[in-house]
Amino acid sequence: MAESNLVEKFITQVIANSDYEDLDRIYLRNRVLALVGDSARAVTTSSQKLLDLQVELVNATQDNGSCQQGSAARDRVATQLMELIVPRPSKVNRDFWQTYQESPERAIADFYQLSIRSDYIKTQAIAKNIYFTATTKYGDLEITINLSKPEKDPKEIAAARDAKQAGYPLCQLCMENEGYLGRLNYPARRNHRIIRFRLNDQVWGFQYSPYAYFNEHCIFLSAKHEKMHIGRRTFSSLLDIIAQFPGYFAGSNADLPIVGGSILAHEHYQGGRHQFAMEQAPVTTKLHFAGFDQVQAGIVDWPLAVIRLRARDQAQLVNLATKITTVWREYDDERVAVRATTNGVQHHTVTPIARRRGHDFELDLVLRDNQTSPAYPDGIFHPHPDVQHIKKENIGLIEVMGLAILPPRLKPELEEVKKFLLDEPNQVAPMHLPWAQQIRARQRINADNVDQILRAELGQIFARVLEDAGVFKRTQAGQTAFMRFVQKVGLAEQSASPSDD
Ligand SMILES: [Zn+2]
Repeated sequence: MAESNLVEKFITQVIANSDYEDLDRIYLRNRVLALVGDSARAVTTSSQKLLDLQVELVNATQDNGSCQQGSAARDRVATQLMELIVPRPSKVNRDFWQTYQESPERAIADFYQLSIRSDYIKTQAIAKNIYFTATTKYGDLEITINLSKPEKDPKEIAAARDAKQAGYPLCQLCMENEGYLGRLNYPARRNHRIIRFRLNDQVWGFQYSPYAYFNEHCIFLSAKHEKMHIGRRTFSSLLDIIAQFPGYFAGSNADLPIVGGSILAHEHYQGGRHQFAMEQAPVTTKLHFAGFDQVQAGIVDWPLAVIRLRARDQAQLVNLATKITTVWREYDDERVAVRATTNGVQHHTVTPIARRRGHDFELDLVLRDNQTSPAYPDGIFHPHPDVQHIKKENIGLIEVMGLAILPPRLKPELEEVKKFLLDEPNQVAPMHLPWAQQIRARQRINADNVDQILRAELGQIFARVLEDAGVFKRTQAGQTAFMRFVQKVGLAEQSASPSDD
């Protein structure tokens, strides 16, 4: 067989990356042809890599009419091709736990590599994202403009609108996604595998995020389709996860709209191997909570209101975190517009993040309040209207930690802002104009520094966005109010002191 033949080269790579052997070649060819059509046998290529060969096969399939046009149809073929190198779920799980007994780190690394090799983690799409850091008074904040999610074909959007909702899988975080073919309005998951593990005597799943926002971005999900709920079990689960998955942090989105993530219907956490700016922010005021001598606590130098707890003993941390959250759920302070409920509707919750510090466990609790008002209909502690031209979506777990996920619309919009700053003909959107004028008035801009200035200015806006989301502002009045809250939780005698860090 010719070395340039696309189908044969793909099969050679499948054999190299799986348990299949040379004897399986005829069978594999027929599996591939069933997906891409017999006429693909005529296609030649100079590519070598598994993923490039897969993309060319899918292109050939669309050319010869074996597959419908559109990204959903492409993905269905692509994930079935990649599934050829992914073992069945029981074997992936057995391999993981066998390796884990010798080395948890290696088990995690192997599963991560499998998720990349099989294109379950969309590395090529993720590489399209714009990413940079911007230095602010809160440290180096990270900014991404998310360009990785595929653009939908207008015909697919129309067809999806008319498609019946099947109700299976119930949501994108359900276990039932493992191996799911996908459909017009639902992603293809043939190459998807989930590691089962035990958490608080329940079965949970561990998987990676297909469109990762940071290194080894993973998801821990309940086997049951149950609503998100932050409470004692959340804190003990997060600490248990970071004990079971060394090197990873684990955090949860809040369980209320406006301050939560995009999926509230399915209990899940997120984690990964990445150091966020919040983690590096120091404690400015140390706190000693009464009855918790073993827990080091303090207020974190961060635009949102964060209490950091640290201890060797997980139970102490869970008890104190539960106490703080319980008090917060009921806490009112009219002086700073903080209200636990209006008309019986709850507004208060926390965004918790857990990590290891050597042998210690550390838990950051970010206090959240999702009230709206006539002046701030999208949320009082949410990006205010004057910064919504950059970010108006929820400030979820990842943003809270200092990584902005900005919408794709900003890429072309910022190109126009850049032209405006350089006095070139432009079509700056009216919503960006006041901001662009302010920047031009403040800075000496030329073609060499315009990108850097724009990035720095975006960083300043993101810092403002985070400040808007802070329930206790970084003013004297705000910090005094913060101290009233921690007093309510219960401080030991002579408990609050400025940090000497
Ligand atoms: Zn679900």
